[in-house]
Amino acid sequence: MAMHHQVLVIGGGNAGISLAARLRRWKVDDIAVVEPSSQHYFQPLFSHIGAGAARMREAVRPQVDIMPAGVEWIRGRVVDILPESNVVVLSGGARISYGHVVVCPGLQLDWHRIDGLTEAISSPACSSNYDAALATKTWELVQGLSSGTAIFTQPAGPAKCAGAAQKIAYMACDYWRDAGVLQEIDVHLVVPTTTAFGMPEVDAELERKIDEYGITLETSTSLAAVYPEEQAVMLTGPGEDRQLRYNLLHVVPPQSAPDWLKATTLPAAGDRGGFVEVDPGTLRHRRYSNVWSLGDAAGTANSKSGGALRKQAKVLAKNLRAVLRGGKPKAQYNGYSVCPFTLSRGTAFFAEFDTGYRPKPSYPFLKMAKERRWQWIMDRHVFPQIYWRLILKGRA
Ligand SMILES: Cc1cc2nc3c(=O)[nH]c(=O)nc-3n(C[C@H](O)[C@H](O)[C@H](O)COP(=O)(O)OP(=O)(O)OC[C@H]3O[C@@H](n4cnc5c(N)ncnc54)[C@H](O)[C@@H]3O)c2cc1C
Repeated sequence: MAMHHQVLVIGGGNAGISLAARLRRWKVDDIAVVEPSSQHYFQPLFSHIGAGAARMREAVRPQVDIMPAGVEWIRGRVVDILPESNVVVLSGGARISYGHVVVCPGLQLDWHRIDGLTEAISSPACSSNYDAALATKTWELVQGLSSGTAIFTQPAGPAKCAGAAQKIAYMACDYWRDAGVLQEIDVHLVVPTTTAFGMPEVDAELERKIDEYGITLETSTSLAAVYPEEQAVMLTGPGEDRQLRYNLLHVVPPQSAPDWLKATTLPAAGDRGGFVEVDPGTLRHRRYSNVWSLGDAAGTANSKSGGALRKQAKVLAKNLRAVLRGGKPKAQYNGYSVCPFTLSRGTAFFAEFDTGYRPKPSYPFLKMAKERRWQWIMDRHVFPQIYWRLILKGRA
């Protein structure tokens, strides 16, 4: 049976659901979301789960419960987009034609790009909060460590909420300090940047905590290989490559657009990450006027995060609605992104910035990078509620 939808959304994650809900609220008819997973995850809670500050059941809901009323859910996996013929192909071969397509299937975790990491991740001493199935393992490893070496790594290149690699390091140190064992643990935080984050104000606050916890900050350094049998990593940085043994390894893998998306004609020529080539302001494709993208899979220069796509969803919905009514896309996304840095299991601050890592604070009268209790409460308790109740309903 031939299928056609006026608006077809690929991916029912944070971006796809919040956009579809907003469009539906604005009376756009005939919207369908293609989504293979029966579960929907609120990924920012994974950091808290890894530190024992949240349970997985708080981060997951059945997809059927969050699908907006009046939006059709197509339970399938997209394997190709043919923008010249306005067709999307599903894994079973079904073809769906569209008036407009919004591409937001998120990021792919490229474990294979680091030697030994695919094997390491299922070995006893290695974990990653970036896999829903492993966040609870992280917490078990943190609780089980009372001496030795703990290594936390952040990858170079695009990543969702890149600072999440650091959040777990600070929260684990806080736990170990409370448990009275922090001084027995040699903690290394491996970052690709020349400073902890890349914004002077943020760096100063992070480095204050790094000193307080006695963490060794390895700047301009990347994880080159993991040898799970020996519980060792190879780090590549400014000096000679060197091996370091570990008792706990928390890895954030390199990330890119899904392979099937890379193979379409939607990415810009030469974009090895494979992201959809959109105008970064309007979020409309530069070459195909009925193709749009937002969220982690969009080829925008902002730091990828749920906070960034919340702004993008409003812009894209406005522009798509205008075009559907025969108008022009006038709304512009300004490159805003945010990273909530949890500095302990009870304090945090929000780094808010634009594509040039210039501060973009929501509350300019507050010093942005300052450890606060209420910002942790926002991140841990308030945002999940805002997510389920407002963002996924296209209301925030
Ligand atoms: C550990 C961690 C901590 C984070 N912390 C924060 C934070 O504190 N603040 C913040 O703002 N952001 C945070 N983020 C980032 C945030 O979760 C992402 O930026 C956001 O989820 C991106 O939304 P998205 O819809 O683009 O992708 P996703 O939410 O990943 O959704 C993509 C969807 O597409 C579906 N899909 C995949 N392939 C296909 C296909 N072939 N066909 C159809 N559908 C497909 C997937 O099943 C999924 O449902 C964090 C992420 C992680 C992993």
